[in-house]
Order: sequence, then C-alpha cells, then structure tokens
Amino acid sequence: MRVALGHSFLTDVVRLDFLLPVPGRDVFALSHGLVAAIVAGVSLVLEIPGIEVGGAPVYGDGFPAIMLFDDVPGGGGVVARLEEPTVLRSVLEHARDRLNGSCGCGPDGSCYACLRTYRNQSLHSDLRRGLVYDYLNHILEHF
Ligand SMILES: [Zn+2]
Repeated sequence: MRVALGHSFLTDVVRLDFLLPVPGRDVFALSHGLVAAIVAGVSLVLEIPGIEVGGAPVYGDGFPAIMLFDDVPGGGGVVARLEEPTVLRSVLEHARDRLNGSCGCGPDGSCYACLRTYRNQSLHSDLRRGLVYDYLNHILEHF
C-alpha cells in the first residue's frame, strides 16, 4: 500500500493488527509501547537506523494496531520486508527481548534502553515496560 503521510513524500506502510485481548484495557499505553519496541526491533533486525522507521498507533476496536512506515524520502522499502513471516517473527522477538528487564527499570516504568525515545517523550510517563513485554510474549506464543 502506498499513501501520503502529510508531508511531501510517499512511502510504504505496513499495518499490524494484534488480535489478543489487552489486559486492563490499557490500549493506549500498550499501543505506544508496541510502536517503540517494534520500531527498535525493525531497526535491529533489518540493520537500519531507527530514525528511518516511523511508527504510530492506530485506534480502533479495542485491540492494539500500529502502522510502520519508511521514514525517508521516497521510502526505503524496509517495512515491506515485514510481510515475510520469519522477518516479522524475528522483529517481534527482538522487540520482546529488549523489554526483558535487563535495562534495570521496573515493569511499571520505562527508560531509554527499553521503550523511551526522543520521539515519544510526551508519553514517557505512560510507557510501561512490563505491559508490553507480557503482551509480546503472549503474541509470540500464538504466532
Ligand atoms: Zn527500561
């Protein structure tokens, strides 16, 4: 799919819909956490700078969904590779592993080694590492 993203370029967009229920109905915190973790996972697995992958939550029917897009002029063709199941699984595993607590923050917090980025600084107090970690584990069990 190719869509304009408000600026003057076109890029590839991949939408991921997660189909497992959200504990505590905390879709807002979970969705933003998934964006941060999965952008980091894409960057690691596809070996591109995190700044070249954009992400945003999509709000809908109570389940988390996120959009990922190539955040470079003309698109880098990077996020389209997520359509390969082995690539997507590896991205989700790296996203999950980043949240395993080795960063040292508590499950109800977040830090720059797990979920926080410059881009999501307005959301830092909402980001909860444990919520996203548990959800990604649950997703991977059903992948
Ligand atoms: Zn942390």
